Amino acid sequence: MNENTPNIAVTLNSVKAQISEFEHTYQRTIDSVQLLAVSKKKPATAVTAAAQAGQIAFGENYVDEGVAKILEINNTALIWHYIGAIQSRKTAQIAEHFHWAHGVDRLKIAKRLAEQRPDHLPPLNICLQVNLDNEASKAGISIEELPELATHCAALKGVCLRGLMAIPAPRQQLDEQREVLARLRQALQSLQLQHPELDTLSMGMSGDLEAAVAEGATIVRIGTAIFGARDS
Ligand SMILES: *Cc1c(COP(=O)(O)O)cnc(C)c1O
Repeated sequence: MNENTPNIAVTLNSVKAQISEFEHTYQRTIDSVQLLAVSKKKPATAVTAAAQAGQIAFGENYVDEGVAKILEINNTALIWHYIGAIQSRKTAQIAEHFHWAHGVDRLKIAKRLAEQRPDHLPPLNICLQVNLDNEASKAGISIEELPELATHCAALKGVCLRGLMAIPAPRQQLDEQREVLARLRQALQSLQLQHPELDTLSMGMSGDLEAAVAEGATIVRIGTAIFGARDS
């Protein structure tokens, strides 16, 4: 281990302690915020170290890399979330190997994931990705487009619509971060009128963890603070 390699048990516990502290500060139910350890561009050994320290849920952004790690680690106790952009030609691999896909933003993709989900597995959990800043470069749909896509996705067998995810443009101030994440919370609350079973808000990364807990995140996706900086 060189000096750039964090002690993963230590960093993991420190992130968990931060989450607990923010749950307390913002009067969230204890353990209502799930930590997703984002292991993209990190080796299987880093995942195994985190798993040995008690981490169960892992997030991957690149399909080939993620599938290779899932097969190499071969630990059925772990839960794998695909959090990257979803291309049509990659849906079968996602449907076969992951438990969750967070970046669904078109019905065509949801249908492919549903059809390609193997029969012996429970439905793939999906979140609809919202482009909160309407950035042309980013995946995701507008809040206005959500009700129609949600209704179609909720009717598909093979996937289970769980909620919403977003990757807002970076903001420095806590109040600015909260303002944009509040829009995702409100969008989920509106959808829950039609779809009361939705229970997931996937938002918050290393730079906006506090804002995400304050605004109701149920899954925070943390990479750097656990595994250290990525090379590229
Ligand atoms: C990389 C990534 C993360 C983790 O980001 P960090 O800043 O390393 O915590 C979370 N969500 C998505 C979608 C990512 O691509």
